[in-house]
Amino acid sequence: MRIVGVEVRVLKPQEFVEEATRINVPAALIRIFTDKGVEGVTMLEESIYAEELVMKFRTARRWLRSVEDFIPLVGADPFDRERIEKSFWDQYFFQRSAPTVLCALDECLWDIAGKVLGMPIYKLIGAYRERIPAFASTQSYDRVEDYVRVAERCLEEGFKAIKIHPPRYWRKDIEVCRAVRETVGDDIVLMLDPFHAYARDEALKVGREIEKLDFYWYEDPLPTTDIEGLAYLCRKLDIQVLTGEDIHDLYGYAELITRGAADSLRCVDVNVGGITSMLKVAHLAEIFGMNCELHSWGHPWQQAAHLHVMLAIKNCRFFEMPFPVGIFDQGTKDVIRIDRDGYVHAPRKPGLGLDVDWDDIERRTIDVISYPERVS
Ligand SMILES: [Mg+2]
Repeated sequence: MRIVGVEVRVLKPQEFVEEATRINVPAALIRIFTDKGVEGVTMLEESIYAEELVMKFRTARRWLRSVEDFIPLVGADPFDRERIEKSFWDQYFFQRSAPTVLCALDECLWDIAGKVLGMPIYKLIGAYRERIPAFASTQSYDRVEDYVRVAERCLEEGFKAIKIHPPRYWRKDIEVCRAVRETVGDDIVLMLDPFHAYARDEALKVGREIEKLDFYWYEDPLPTTDIEGLAYLCRKLDIQVLTGEDIHDLYGYAELITRGAADSLRCVDVNVGGITSMLKVAHLAEIFGMNCELHSWGHPWQQAAHLHVMLAIKNCRFFEMPFPVGIFDQGTKDVIRIDRDGYVHAPRKPGLGLDVDWDDIERRTIDVISYPERVS
């Protein structure tokens, strides 16, 4: 089996507006075609990266002809993932977009493998479980009462865990955390993710408050590059400090671990290079007795890619469900939802497990780029 081409559809951004929530999601659908008629499909949130994938296909042969070990993507066996991706990484490591472009490539290749073998990806990797509890992951809001309202809705919909993205002003964030704990009671798991908002002294104050409120994790209190500050917080606080979702290569994770700058890791497909790289990060964490909590915040393809990895590792506690549920849904009817106990279940279809809703995609396609031209 050989790869014969790639196609990218740049989509009109999808808007979602509901009460205090407003979101605009630009996206691109990526397809990798094979000579056996099986195609791998995924979606990226930023169409610009998907365009780069086509550009790199286009330039690969010409520009890299001199590199002896380089495997051109067109003509390669789609099952040679490690070889294709290592070659790609070696060539493009210096480019800021490399992990995101690699992510699109990797997820299409896994999708092809699953479809050819008739298996969901988590089974191909080696399943650990068939379901995982989810937490509702809130948007950021201005007012404390918005968080209270959203927390009530999360409970109504069956969530047993909620992660707060607070307004990112430390005093107000403490108010939000107190109000939400008061609203949901003691039995609901709570997490806080201020998304790198604090200075070290603020981060310590907030951390001590949410320890008293029995929060389960404290994510990204400081910039990920403030290794000394994160190590300081890890020493000072009992609550687990999570970081790493904006790290772009494995070396960055090694540094966080060896310098004691995280209690558990965070990881996202577009920043490390897809399913293959997320597995490497999760296994690295496992060696050090750490959890690796994956960031399944995004459209259904991105949620599915993370879910397959979660189902194939032990050291991850929760699936992250963007809230309001359905906010990022587009391009497919195979959406991920929780059951009445707050769990999400393994996808049953082969590959990533999502069929394209072509009516939706055709309606929203504003540009089609392919290599070779007119491959589909
Ligand atoms: Mg986060």
